[in-house]
Amino acid sequence: MEERCFGSIRFIPGENRGKYPFCHSVYIEGAGVLIDPSSDRQRLKRLRDEADVKAIWLSHWHEDHFMHLDLFENVPLWISEPDAPMLADLEHFLDGYGIEGQAHRDFWRKLLVKQFHFRPRKPAGFLQDGQQAQLGDVTVDIIHAPGHTPGHLCFFFREPKVLFLGDYDLTPFGPWYGDRESSIPQTIASVKRLKEIPAQTWLACHETGVFEENPGPAWDRFLAVIQRREQKLLELLATPRTMAQIVEAWIVYGRPREPREFYAFGEEAIMKKHLQVLLADGRVVQEGQQYRRIV
Ligand SMILES: [Zn+2]
Repeated sequence: MEERCFGSIRFIPGENRGKYPFCHSVYIEGAGVLIDPSSDRQRLKRLRDEADVKAIWLSHWHEDHFMHLDLFENVPLWISEPDAPMLADLEHFLDGYGIEGQAHRDFWRKLLVKQFHFRPRKPAGFLQDGQQAQLGDVTVDIIHAPGHTPGHLCFFFREPKVLFLGDYDLTPFGPWYGDRESSIPQTIASVKRLKEIPAQTWLACHETGVFEENPGPAWDRFLAVIQRREQKLLELLATPRTMAQIVEAWIVYGRPREPREFYAFGEEAIMKKHLQVLLADGRVVQEGQQYRRIV
């Protein structure tokens, strides 16, 4: 993938098409604002050494968006208020994902420090919904788009009409909503809100990354993944199942992947969100350790 410029907005592709643990970054020339520094360590080092990076903005608190933040330790950081605590403390980070059990927390602590260069960071300030910022010659609207995380942010750069979607990334995998504070209804509402913004270019953090025409059906396909996961779960629960058995069905990831511990966690986290919705709607009941669909 290649770097692209849209006015003063520079798209910096992540390694491996921005697939996890990488993401695409965005840099606003002139204003020196770097968004989500987890794309390509060598490229970001050059940016640090050759450009005047004045601020880091994070769309949200996930590790695949801050992996190379350690290159910018003295640069002021901006994030939303709900997502800030997870960045300020490793234990809060683990809590944010709902990671339980000493062994599992140890696994993640090591991974976060070693691979993702986690260092506790306190923001210089918070970015809030409805705020407007003037970044050089670009006016940007701050958009709070919760669901993926409680404080996930998108940015609409007005003059070149570029909409930064963050992790509402329109990938075939579909949305992630497995954090402790993630929400399926909020994810749906956020995607619908983003779809209505009159942009001409759309930038997302993973895979395709740049959409120069309205993504059109990709919006609906992205949301349809949620329905498909729910439908498959309901089919599975025609027979009562425990959570371990639900995970073994690999509804989210399609098949077991390595490292298993990592993917089994994601599978369970997302399935739990679906169960929450289905239990609240009375479409599924819990009996002891098992979940059962009500026909
Ligand atoms: Zn994310």
